[in-house]
Amino acid sequence: PATLVDLLRVHVEARPAAEAIVEVGGERLTYLQLWQRAARVAGGLRAAGLRGGDRVAVRHPAGVNWALAFWGTVLAGGIVVAVNTRSTPPEIEYVLGDAGVTLDLAADSPLPDGDPFVADTLRGTDVVALFYTSGTTGKPKGVPTTHEAFVTSAENMVRALEVNQDIGPQLRTLISVPLFHVTACNAQFLVAAYVGGTAVILPVLDLAKLAETLAAEQISFLVSVPAVYALLLRHPRFAAADVSSVDIVAYGGAPIAPSLVQALRTAFPAATVLNGYGMTETAALMSALPDHDALDHADSVGYAVPSVDLGIIPIGADATVGELVVRGANVTAGYWNRPDATDTTIVDGWLRTGDVVRVDEAGRVHIVDRIKDIINRGGENVSSVEVEAVLLAAPGVADAAVLAVPDDVMGEKVGAVLVAADAPIDVDAVLDHCRTKLADFKIPQFVTVATEALPRNAGGKLLKNDLRRRVQWGAP
Ligand code: ATP
Ligand code: MG
Repeated sequence: PATLVDLLRVHVEARPAAEAIVEVGGERLTYLQLWQRAARVAGGLRAAGLRGGDRVAVRHPAGVNWALAFWGTVLAGGIVVAVNTRSTPPEIEYVLGDAGVTLDLAADSPLPDGDPFVADTLRGTDVVALFYTSGTTGKPKGVPTTHEAFVTSAENMVRALEVNQDIGPQLRTLISVPLFHVTACNAQFLVAAYVGGTAVILPVLDLAKLAETLAAEQISFLVSVPAVYALLLRHPRFAAADVSSVDIVAYGGAPIAPSLVQALRTAFPAATVLNGYGMTETAALMSALPDHDALDHADSVGYAVPSVDLGIIPIGADATVGELVVRGANVTAGYWNRPDATDTTIVDGWLRTGDVVRVDEAGRVHIVDRIKDIINRGGENVSSVEVEAVLLAAPGVADAAVLAVPDDVMGEKVGAVLVAADAPIDVDAVLDHCRTKLADFKIPQFVTVATEALPRNAGGKLLKNDLRRRVQWGAP
């Protein structure tokens, strides 16, 4: 398919009665119903004045209405602005203004309905959505994404899944992470549409419901972020859940602890696991770690997906370590309204990911750190992610974040914020553990034990900017 409209139409014609969208506790739509109702929303949007390329804010909670708002805007020839529904009113105002939204499908508003309309002049190179980055390292940036980028992204995901499983219309995926981010939208919602499968949507993240829905909806393809899996596996309702329908357990969005990969393997004995790495700018997937590498190389995000080229800009003498750059049909041409960010991010046709990686002898990519989170301790680069991984495996540590602490002499020193598991943390024991795993210049010189959970966004990403502002470093 050249466009998202073509992608959906194939299944509307081939299997109109197949289930396309299920809202847990709500409505169910077949492909034909989805198409007919989305076409009426498109007609309603046109009647309200929408012309090709106009921006439409999609603000409904995850569910059938979100799906209809998304597909209605696509069929109308508009641009979907996927708004983070957990944002505060000023943050929402910022996105609506930045995107230049002319039609606002607010959370509680009824969807417009009109005479059925399907745009027939769309091209693969047309922008069809603006998704905003998570805002982990700064203000969220709008990422224009074309039909071609979405279709390529869905294809890439299917190729990655096909390594271990037959992928087709029998695919049933459970969406429990926000649809306004690319992981759920591209790796699940649009992958289901690409193969003619079913997107089962959980309107709110309720772990007991999630556990029950696996069997109730015969979920075959599960995707989530490490933070949600960690909670799910500990949830009392999960122990009794029937997980036999699940073929694939995929995770991504943030680094995962090897112990959690092992726990997922044990909890889903019949499933293969898959680590997917991507960013808003690449319409989700750029690399994937297949099942057979999952345990031995849990810290890796695997190999580039078929249509993507990856490269490295070295940051030191070692040419295998540096900032990852990416290009391909799924990669955005630049940010919305941000020529400054576009100029510094897209260089000679390559997009700078902001992630520092190491490539191993087999060609696997390992994320070393975010470039902004690398600590420069007197000229030695310290990966905060590497130190966090060691801390997470230390006795009594439930969560950990590593930050640079400014220092007059060394430039930066290594600081760690720890969260205790159940008993108070023995900091000396934690540091002893670090000394057996890390070179001396990587050992945290400042350690603070937090009294509350570390700040993470809905995607499970650690918000280090927030943490930096909050944390008080004691004497070393
Ligand atoms: P912003 O760009 O606004 O600072 P962000 O980069 O967190 O926010 P996203 O586009 O949602 O916004 O996230 C992409 C980033 O998430 C990647 O650059 C990478 O750092 C991280 N990431 C994604 N998948 C994985 C994964 N499987 N393992 C480790 N990190 C991942
Ligand atoms: Mg980013």
